Amino acid sequence: MTTNNPWTPLSWKSKPIVQDVTYKDQAKVDRVIGKLHTLPPLVSSKEIDNLREQLRQVALGESFLLQGGDCAELFDYCSQVLLQMSLVLVWGGRIPVTRIARMAGQYAKPRSKPTEMHNGKEILTFRGDNVNGYDPEDREADPERLLGAYFHSAATLNYVRTLVDSGFADLHQPSTWNLNHVQSQTVRQEYQSIVDQLTDALDFMKTVGADSSPTTVENALQKVDFFVSHEALLLDFEASLTRLLPSSNNDSNAPQKYYNAGAHFLWIGDRTRQPDGAHVEYMRGIENPIGIKVGPSTQPDELVALLNTVNPTKDVGKVTLITRFGAGKVDHYLPQHIKAVRQSGHVPVWVCDPMHGNTKNAAAGLKTRHFVDIIQELSEAFRVHKECDSKLNGVHFELTGDSVTECVGGSMDLKDEDLGLNYQTHCDPRLNYEQALDVAFLIAKYYQK
Ligand code: PEP
Ligand code: MN
Repeated sequence: MTTNNPWTPLSWKSKPIVQDVTYKDQAKVDRVIGKLHTLPPLVSSKEIDNLREQLRQVALGESFLLQGGDCAELFDYCSQVLLQMSLVLVWGGRIPVTRIARMAGQYAKPRSKPTEMHNGKEILTFRGDNVNGYDPEDREADPERLLGAYFHSAATLNYVRTLVDSGFADLHQPSTWNLNHVQSQTVRQEYQSIVDQLTDALDFMKTVGADSSPTTVENALQKVDFFVSHEALLLDFEASLTRLLPSSNNDSNAPQKYYNAGAHFLWIGDRTRQPDGAHVEYMRGIENPIGIKVGPSTQPDELVALLNTVNPTKDVGKVTLITRFGAGKVDHYLPQHIKAVRQSGHVPVWVCDPMHGNTKNAAAGLKTRHFVDIIQELSEAFRVHKECDSKLNGVHFELTGDSVTECVGGSMDLKDEDLGLNYQTHCDPRLNYEQALDVAFLIAKYYQK
């Protein structure tokens, strides 16, 4: 390995790049990337450092990580469903929750094949809105889309910040978080009962004067931290948003550090985590907390080598390991990963992504995931961590606040034949609003055991 070579925001260019995008007009790419370099950061180093500290607490078992979302459509609903899930977790699990949305930048998609057949013709696959169009006529990669991604991320972030600032996340008002999409009486009642108990608790605090002044408690009730994340796939784009910024923990004389100012948290996907590859090289140099997807093909020694490369100082919680093995496979893979990581002295955040190992084809040719498989992998992860004297520190979902019909099962009991009713995803099937709340209740119950 050549990881001792000096890192720069562009040192990845000398490494093999998988999932790369081929553009026809390199001059246009250079112009767009040049422009991106001049645009302002989307997030601050202070926020990134704050998340890094929160994830340290998560790794130590003091807090729980909830990561979820999709791309930016209906982003207001998406942030709301994450808040509702976290309310259920905070209340049921009696543990603070750190929320990271997959949004404001989650546009690029890794694909298993570069081309696909369409009406008897071979065309390029859809690589995400920041590369090409979903329309089969619009599959050529267009660098202008990278600028579109930047501005779309900025608009999304701006909206989320506005919502949070205007009290959208105020825990005094959770009954206004709507449950329109929830059909199941049981789920509605369970949620309502949490809201009622919370309202009682807040009333009590008011009575005893605990929330009469603008204390930290009061601030915490009215506002939440809301972090954004995406897969770091398009490295030219990521490098253009990599900036030297002052670290909030340093005094003013300390040297500035490189942050990816396009998101608080970035992760390396299952297809791009080659230890000697470009993506790992890029990720090892940034201050942001980062994630690594861990699948059945991850060898335990390779995982340790990756951790040593991206986190040589073994900072607690700097790296989040997101396991995604598939239901029924956790007992086989996870214990060896836990053992190897423990022996290495690294203390990561352990997260279960019960979505990506459980994708299936439904009868109509649609991609789906079964709610039972998702729950099975999740409970296996909780149990195996416990058996190995470890702890599952968080979860990672693909979900939306809309009432889509993409995953089967859940309390609304969606069937294979219902998938066509409101199947919207252009990529992977997501939990809908009700299924997301179902999952939150299940996790909260698991956490109490
Ligand atoms: C994803 O998170 O959307 C994804 C592609 O996951 P993975 O890299 O785990 O396959
Ligand atoms: Mn996906």
